Amino acid sequence: MQAGTASLVTTMDRLASGAFKADFPILQQQVGNKPLVYLDSGASSQKPQVVIDAMTKYYCHDHSNVHRGVHTLSQRATHAYEQARQKVADFINAPSTDDVVFVRGTTEAINLVANSYGASQLQAGDEVLITALEHHANIVPWQMVCERIGARLRVLPINDCGELRLDQLDALLSSRTRIVAVAHISNALGTVNPVAQIVERAHALGVVVLVDGAQSIPHAKIDVQALDCDFFCFSGHKVYGPTGIGVLYGRQSLLQQMPPWQGGGDMIRVVTFEKTTYADPPLRFEAGTPDIAEAIGLGAALDYVSAIGLDKIAAHEKALLEYATAQLSSVPGLRIIGTAAHKAAVVSFLLKGIHPHDLGTILDAEGVAIRAGHHCAMPVMQFFSIPATARASFGLYNTMTDIDALVAALHKARKLFGL
Ligand code: PLP
Repeated sequence: MQAGTASLVTTMDRLASGAFKADFPILQQQVGNKPLVYLDSGASSQKPQVVIDAMTKYYCHDHSNVHRGVHTLSQRATHAYEQARQKVADFINAPSTDDVVFVRGTTEAINLVANSYGASQLQAGDEVLITALEHHANIVPWQMVCERIGARLRVLPINDCGELRLDQLDALLSSRTRIVAVAHISNALGTVNPVAQIVERAHALGVVVLVDGAQSIPHAKIDVQALDCDFFCFSGHKVYGPTGIGVLYGRQSLLQQMPPWQGGGDMIRVVTFEKTTYADPPLRFEAGTPDIAEAIGLGAALDYVSAIGLDKIAAHEKALLEYATAQLSSVPGLRIIGTAAHKAAVVSFLLKGIHPHDLGTILDAEGVAIRAGHHCAMPVMQFFSIPATARASFGLYNTMTDIDALVAALHKARKLFGL
């Protein structure tokens, strides 16, 4: 056996056995006198000790403000913050750190693009194309800018499996389309969208594409150059990093054209009362003191994920998804919402006779944490004519035993309801 193969087997075994749970202090607790089974990583993943330690070390030894000081602590803080930017660039294969803007999260990244690129490029009558699968974060900012400018928001529909109707893409992409904004993976259904194909078809018409990578960043190797997207955004807290930090990757030629969307310190070149000139990207878009510790924590999270290997995490989660789909399908009255051919790490479902919110509460008493609601994707719920779903979503620390616990808790819930 070659050394590479041996290490692959070892990591896959460790993933399958749940050995990585030991890295996550929060997972060591009991909820409702039962070991916690965390199946809500789609909303936010838990943090390994190395991320917590990196942030603690920074606050204990290196904290000061970045970019403005000559003293030792400021230089250390600046170095660590900019090193985190390099880690992000490497993680998503951005051509340069200049293409990586730190923001608070996916929501802020999309608002930045809508308010800077969108507001400066769109004119009345232009069109922005999104899809029927989007999280509210990739709907509302576009709706707001379209309303302001008199542009039109168009929506690529989905089919009953929760897949994009690509057969309608050419009809919806018109000479008026300026921007396509699409989720890489649907948070409500788990559908993996063919974003590279969408980028290709949009680019053929000169249309700029933003990919919302909030759900793909922890589950798939991202290469923004291979995807050829113009913008890619994600949140640190969904990839085992802290809250309050996220990333907007932008094609440098576009970032250069874009006006700042917030003014303040750090984003300027020269300020006089008559006129201000702005810094180059990425600092042009990072007004004020940034989330320094959070950026450092994100860097540590990306190191952690890279050390395990996204290919192995993806293979492990694929096995979990297949097992969960089979096991859940055997529960009487259970209907899976979202049956796309390509899915990742998310199972949304309904259990006949029990409202998803009641189900969430009953499962919590069994130590099983799932999410119930519309998942900030109300149009998806409207499409399926349902108010909400229960959703189990997986991370690298989950195991088939966790899925067994979910299924056992579902059987218990049915019994409680006399079903
Ligand atoms: N887009 C998708 C697909 C998401 O799943 C989420 C969060 O669940 C977001 C955007 C918004 O992310 P955040 O709340 O971290 O800004």
